[in-house]
Amino acid sequence: MGRIYNFSAGPAVLPEDVLKELAAEMMDYNGTGMSVMEMSHRSAAYQAIIDAAEADLRELMNIPDNYKVLFLQGGASLQFAMIPMNLMKNKKAAHIVTGQWAKKAYQEAKLYGEAVEVASSADKTFSYIPDCSDLDIPEDADYVYICENNTIYGTKFHELPNTKGKDLVSDVSSCFLSEPVDVSKYAVIYGGVQKNIGPAGMVIVIIREDLITEDVLPGTPTMMKYKIHADNGSMYNTPPCYNIYVCGKVFKWLKKMGGLSAMKELNEKKAKILYDFLDESKLFKGTVEKKDRSLMNVPFVTGDADLDAKFVKEAKAAGLENLKGHRTVGGMRASIYNAMPIEGVQALVDFMKKFEEENA
Ligand SMILES: *Cc1c(COP(=O)(O)O)cnc(C)c1O
Repeated sequence: MGRIYNFSAGPAVLPEDVLKELAAEMMDYNGTGMSVMEMSHRSAAYQAIIDAAEADLRELMNIPDNYKVLFLQGGASLQFAMIPMNLMKNKKAAHIVTGQWAKKAYQEAKLYGEAVEVASSADKTFSYIPDCSDLDIPEDADYVYICENNTIYGTKFHELPNTKGKDLVSDVSSCFLSEPVDVSKYAVIYGGVQKNIGPAGMVIVIIREDLITEDVLPGTPTMMKYKIHADNGSMYNTPPCYNIYVCGKVFKWLKKMGGLSAMKELNEKKAKILYDFLDESKLFKGTVEKKDRSLMNVPFVTGDADLDAKFVKEAKAAGLENLKGHRTVGGMRASIYNAMPIEGVQALVDFMKKFEEENA
């Protein structure tokens, strides 16, 4: 059995070098005589793993000293509640709604205070990023919330919104570590790791220190306070030990690949192969506004649902899997995260050309 090219939106492809290392260390991690899965999180061996993961992430993203890095459970979705519970001091947040994950975060925030929709691209089925240069942001809003890369619709904020001085909170689940970012422009950057980094169930939260306080909404569970996790080095309770270890491996792999500038260059090259083909194809069409295209998630359609289904089926038989679009939008979607090799994107485009000829 060989490996296929996996275009899944998440859980998604991981670097083969990393998978091989995980396999090699499964029975005996570094002379400990056990797997990392079996190891006490209070052991020196495990402390070294989590410390290295944090140090490598800080180096990759150039995270300033006044930001904490938290490795937490509950995926990205638990943050939809944790963010308002911890940050809504005035009980008001400004939300920019650019897709389903942004919408879910907006709806969840409403459970805890006033969530104000200050911009949306729902009018054109989230196929673009609205102009966010001069939004009507409430004076007393605690923060402005965005979903930076819209996994389902394939759009990305290539420019951050003008928050009028308010703190910016960003869900970067599907563009995490795909290119360099200036962390200091954000109050909170967070993402579920199963799109671009590691196994599902874990979220990484990068948060400015002054936002970590005891002053949270009444009734906030202990496990949902940033402070408890920050004070305990992400080990208030048993952390997602194995996930953190896998993420650490991916951070090392990214460093070996040349860091985030090199990844950006590679990701642009990969995406260009696919977008250039979509722009010239007579059968396939991209579905989002060009200026807002994501480098990570590329949705496309033929315009004929039966033909779309035929494409997905035949692509799978050719070793190109998980190309079916999200259940709410149909068509196709190729997720081409960091770990998708350029050969995979080329193989997809070659297959699309052949399919186009055969179905002209
Ligand atoms: C997948 C995804 C989520 C949800 O992640 P879970 O870990 O399943 O909670 C949230 N936001 C974005 C942008 C995503 O792509």
